[in-house]
Amino acid sequence: MKNDVIEIEITDITPEGFGVGRHDGKVVFVADTAVGDKAGAIVMKELKNRSFAKVFEILSPSQDRIDSDCAVSRKCGGCAFRHISYEAEKALKRKFVGDAMKRIGNLDIEIKETVSANPENYRNKVQYPFSMGKNGECIYGYYARRSHRIIEHNGCKLQEPIFEQIASFTAETANKLFIPPYDETNGKGVLRHIVMRKNRKGEVLVCLVVARNNRKIPVLADAIAEKFGNIVGIHQNINKRRDNVIFGDETERLVGAEVLKDTLCGKTFEISPRSFYQVNADMAEKLYSRAKELLNEREKPSIILDLYCGAGTIGLCVADEGDMLCGVEIIDSAVENANVNAKLNGRNEKNTLFVCGDASLGVNECKKKFGTPDTIIVDPPRKGLEKEVIETVVNASPKQVLYISCDPATLARDCKIFAEYGYKTDKAEPFDLFPRTGHVESIVCLSKQ
Ligand code: SAH
Repeated sequence: MKNDVIEIEITDITPEGFGVGRHDGKVVFVADTAVGDKAGAIVMKELKNRSFAKVFEILSPSQDRIDSDCAVSRKCGGCAFRHISYEAEKALKRKFVGDAMKRIGNLDIEIKETVSANPENYRNKVQYPFSMGKNGECIYGYYARRSHRIIEHNGCKLQEPIFEQIASFTAETANKLFIPPYDETNGKGVLRHIVMRKNRKGEVLVCLVVARNNRKIPVLADAIAEKFGNIVGIHQNINKRRDNVIFGDETERLVGAEVLKDTLCGKTFEISPRSFYQVNADMAEKLYSRAKELLNEREKPSIILDLYCGAGTIGLCVADEGDMLCGVEIIDSAVENANVNAKLNGRNEKNTLFVCGDASLGVNECKKKFGTPDTIIVDPPRKGLEKEVIETVVNASPKQVLYISCDPATLARDCKIFAEYGYKTDKAEPFDLFPRTGHVESIVCLSKQ
């Protein structure tokens, strides 16, 4: 019952960081607990088949437990696992992938050890919402778990300090210029988000997302650019929507560069504010290198189709000189980047084509230019592949399908469908691109049986 005080032993944990135990035969989720904790908790919410409780005392701690090194980690929606050791987190992520493969994919396959790199300061991109503080001032921060309440913070360990410095200066200057933050309850105000991306050299590209045109935004942009020497460009994106989507359709450059340039796997990539780019460059490099290794078992030269290609990063990292490469992506600025990136990395129109469109058109586009692909890479958003995309892929009958996924559940669901079409794998490899958070990336190479 609500408000009951219970004693509970935690036997499992969810990707959101909720410990799981049982009380009176019912499953109880307890935030901020670890497997092996014995805790005193108070029931906050009771549903028919499960309840949610809040811990007030750890009676006997789990071996995995550590003291959180962040003052706001219990409130902030950024990290799920700051209260357990990183070694334990990697083991958990391996288990999440294995559990999904078994339960959802019905696949009992080998799950490799989680590949990892830097668990701190790894994010090269930060997007902060702005909001109005108690005294009417502009504030920024991350959203609290499952809410749009802003948690202000200082010294977030997932990223480098420069991002907070820029955001904080932007909020202060907006206050001085009387540029009001956006209010999502009534659609009024101007400043919605600040999105910043940094390359490995430390250069930063900033995008100010605003709800409407405001003549003081260029003044704000100039002040930011003047203050921070490592900012290479500032853009403005206008988002008039009333939903949670961060970017609107219109982007314009206010100061400096159009794009940020970065290097991965020895290649150079240009990226626009709206193009997808992996947030953890060191890990993206490991992931793409592994993709190349897995695909090196193919016959060469080959015709590679890279679906959901973003700025062309994976395809350009894995393709050899003799290979034909076709990439398909829905965001047009990312496709523009991909075309430039092909040239920057020594490819040309004879061996490379990037197309803007839905992934389901990919096989056809590739056929028209190069012939039927023998190697297909898919790297979809969290919702995974549409059935139609899987059908076009298997109908092309490629020898290999390399699936890179940021959600073990949809990966497992799709692998099950691929298996029904005769595409099988004996292993999945988790890559920890997002340490301390509940997210895990995986790579699976499906071969035609
Ligand atoms: N492979 C890239 C990008 C992966 S993220 C990289 O590693 O950097 C997924 C990409 O899929 C995003 O760029 C997104 O814009 C794109 N996307 C989303 N829905 C799509 C669709 N229906 N068809 C094609 N691309 C899509």
